[in-house]
Formats: sequence, structure tokens, C-alpha cells
Amino acid sequence: MMTDFFVLKKFDRSQRYALTFFVEKVSSSFVSVLTPIAKYGLKKICLVLGMTLLLNGDSFCNGEKPLLEKVIKSNAEWKKILTPKQYYIAREKGTERAFSGEYHDHKGQGVYQCAACGNELFSSKTKFDSGTGWPSFWAPISQDKVREEKEHGFFMKRTEVLCNRCDAHLGHVFEDGPAPTHLRYCINSLILKFVEKKEQK
Ligand code: FE
Repeated sequence: MMTDFFVLKKFDRSQRYALTFFVEKVSSSFVSVLTPIAKYGLKKICLVLGMTLLLNGDSFCNGEKPLLEKVIKSNAEWKKILTPKQYYIAREKGTERAFSGEYHDHKGQGVYQCAACGNELFSSKTKFDSGTGWPSFWAPISQDKVREEKEHGFFMKRTEVLCNRCDAHLGHVFEDGPAPTHLRYCINSLILKFVEKKEQK
């Protein structure tokens, strides 16, 4: 599917808009012979496809690589890259002791990267003092930076947060954070690497 979009990289934005308009007109003519329910469904599909092309066309069509290229390594390779404590958190889903990490009270302006792969995960703009002893954020830099998975334990249900690039375990997200999201991304310091940026995202 993605390779189909790369065929369109020879078109600029205005040409893609014209193409979308043309496809919409052709499909509208085609649906005129269908039943009302089929017409409605097909128009919705065309609308979604058209909007996807318009909104994401630049990243699909300018020849860039996909937004997030996965980093896949064996456990043996990760053991060479990470410290034993980082490996325990990132690959064995461990948790550092509260107030033991470098960043729970860190107030610098910049970006917190994944210590395993360099993926930019959180901005200091969304960091807040949760009082828990772990660095806390109310949102990642963007939703494609992290991946969330439900955990179903015997006594509690939690949502795990992982790096969407290398699948490192980062921490958990809870629904008791501040506005505007009311989420609390509770992240282990050991799997973060702070990079100072004056004009952070
Ligand atoms: Fe990562």
C-alpha cells in the first residue's frame, strides 16, 4: 500500500489536489448507478482516501523514508548497547526505584530521547512534577513516537508505554495527569536521554 503512494512522488501538492478532485468526480459518476446504501459507503471511502492523500501527501510523496523506521536487534545486541540497568528496564520491562533516576526533578528545556535508539519521545514542554519520583509528561511529542499496550494483571490493569521505534519498555501511562490531556506518562529516567534544545518541539 505504501509503495503505491511513492508512485505519486512525481506530483506536487496542487497536482495531487487536482488528482484527488478528478478521482472524486469519477467515483461520484460511478456511484450514481449503485444503490443508495452502496453510494453512501463508497463516498465515505473516497472521502477518507482523499483526505489521507491531501493531509499526508507530502510525507508520502516527497521521497522521504517512512516517518518511523523500526530498530530491531537481538537481545545479545541490546546487551552490548545498553547498561545492565537499562537492559533490565528496556528489554525486561523493569522499573527503577522512585526518586533514583536522573530526570524526575530535571527542569532543562529540550527533548527526551529514547536512550536505546535516539527516538525523540517527550518534550520538556509537557513535563510536570507528579511527585511520584519518576519523570512525568502529559503527552509524547507525537502519538507515533510511542506505542501503548494494555497489561492485564491479577490486581490491576495498566497501560504500558513502549518506544515505537525500538520497542523498549519506557514505563506506563495513567489517566490522572494534568490538563489538557489528563494523562500521566510515568517514564523511567534510565531509558531517557535528555538533549538540550532552546527551540524544542
Ligand atoms: Fe527506542
